[in-house]
Amino acid sequence: ETDIEVEGLTFQYDSEEDVALDEVSFSIALGEITGVAGPSGAGKSTLVDLLCRIRTPSGGAIKANGYDIGNFALTDWRAKLGVVIQDIHLFRASIRDNIAYGLPDVSPAEIEEAARAASIHEFIVNHPEGYDRVLTENGADLSGGQRQRLALARALLRKPKLLILDEATSALDPLAETLVKEAIAARPEGCTVLVIAHRATTIKVADTIIVMEGGRVVQSGTWDSLVNDL
Ligand code: ADP
Ligand code: ADP
Repeated sequence: ETDIEVEGLTFQYDSEEDVALDEVSFSIALGEITGVAGPSGAGKSTLVDLLCRIRTPSGGAIKANGYDIGNFALTDWRAKLGVVIQDIHLFRASIRDNIAYGLPDVSPAEIEEAARAASIHEFIVNHPEGYDRVLTENGADLSGGQRQRLALARALLRKPKLLILDEATSALDPLAETLVKEAIAARPEGCTVLVIAHRATTIKVADTIIVMEGGRVVQSGTWDSLVNDL
């Protein structure tokens, strides 16, 4: 169970005068879907880095079930996360091995199930040699949207407590609304979801949308309430 509490989160890069995150606070109830939208430079990637503990907050905290995530052993915390980024590092290896990366004990059936849940079959469905053959093709040859799906399959296999879909760092293909919907549908029971996007329309399906700008939360609410505010 993971409910997420972001409390007065502040982050400053050493090289910068301005803070990248300025006392950001919000919470996500267990199993809920929250979207974070905002223009380039809003602080979205920094927020994801702090959630993944790639960086450490300059102030404030992120809590899961009331515990500061900084107090978990790093591997324990990372084991709770599924992160879907397009710029996922792919190896010169089969799609199957790329999906199973870091998970030596998963079975071929589990890998195939995750691949299907992530709709990897959609771009290979017409492959003349069939599904099983396609999973042996080189993962490093995939294009942007397909990489996102591979990343989703990899994330789902980890049975995450918190699934993060991050468009912020993907320069090429924007996060497709269909991928967001499929990820939400395919997630394990009780899995909390955070979707990061440039445009709020990508994350209409979220229970709550948080709009960031200049390191601050400038708006939050349901899609309907945000649209009514415009
Ligand atoms: P986006 O706006 O989509 O997050 P950016 O082009 O801003 O993408 O950032 C791409 C990469 O460059 C990220 O890894 C980010 O941490 C880094 N970056 C962004 N701004 C700066 C900066 N002012 N100085 C150094 N690195 C930066
Ligand atoms: P977003 O993901 O919403 O585009 P970022 O978190 O990448 O926003 O950036 C927030 C602010 O922090 C921006 O002003 C950006 O230039 C700065 N920044 C991001 N990454 C770095 C970095 N590695 N070094 C210095 N400044 C950075």
